[in-house]
Amino acid sequence: MDVFVKFWGTRGSIPTPGEHTHRYGGNTACIEVRHEETLIICDAGSGIRELGEDLLTRSNLPITGHLLFSHCHWDHIQGFPFFSPAYRRENRFFIHGRHPGDDRFYRLLSGQMESDYFPIGFQALRAEISSSDLETAGNRIGQVQVRWIPLNHPGGCLGYSLQVDEIKVVYLTDCEIPIPNERPRSELRPMPPDLVEFVRGADLLIGDGQYTDEEYAERSGWGHSSCFTVVDLAIQAKVKHLALFHHDPVRSDFELDELVDACRLRTEAHQSPLTVTAAREGVEYRYATQPIPPGADPVP
Ligand SMILES: [Zn+2]
Ligand SMILES: [Zn+2]
Repeated sequence: MDVFVKFWGTRGSIPTPGEHTHRYGGNTACIEVRHEETLIICDAGSGIRELGEDLLTRSNLPITGHLLFSHCHWDHIQGFPFFSPAYRRENRFFIHGRHPGDDRFYRLLSGQMESDYFPIGFQALRAEISSSDLETAGNRIGQVQVRWIPLNHPGGCLGYSLQVDEIKVVYLTDCEIPIPNERPRSELRPMPPDLVEFVRGADLLIGDGQYTDEEYAERSGWGHSSCFTVVDLAIQAKVKHLALFHHDPVRSDFELDELVDACRLRTEAHQSPLTVTAAREGVEYRYATQPIPPGADPVP
């Protein structure tokens, strides 16, 4: 069965509606990953509101969903109180931590609905919303194997790898990979080896490429990478498709096109077959898994 990945929010830091951002989208981080009956939602930025409305139109059956959070900065949780399926009694949602007892994301999500921040309390959500953890589930959600890696970001952040058979999707937002000063800009940049291994061979890498090199020089330590740096990660990890993600709030659609063009020149200069795009709200990708037929000889 196929794996579907849909972008519901691609912007970083703060929603940016307007005529200059409508093509790539102004909603903050939210990604839907589906395989058979399994629904995984990565982050609950403002994009999750529209995902919720869409889910309610798909069928009358109860919805079960699994929420994975990179971290709890506002742009990754602010949409959750507007996620309509959470207000319906028949639905169930699991908020996954890493280990038994790791309920940090559950607590922070419910905390943002305290009355100082929001008029409706978490207890008003009628769906069954539980704290769960990946380790107890054998690092699997349905048939999707889930791995995580800590990322360099103020306050901490998690990257996720979601894999079904040979299909691998990596969600790597809010990830700062420093640019070494001493090397020519055109050279491939050194990468943390564990990050390269984590990303290796991904069909789709959704990667933080918020800045240009020049912007990064001004904002080092803010927790995000230059688009050229994430291109270099993707090249070295032999990724097939990199979707730049967490677009800077000031970046217009036209400027994002220019950024993608510059990234493609860099992949060509390094003779890499990598495809580079910028993640665009509303776009869905479909990946066909190819299970081995029963009785077939295993590939040596
Ligand atoms: Zn963010
Ligand atoms: Zn962040």
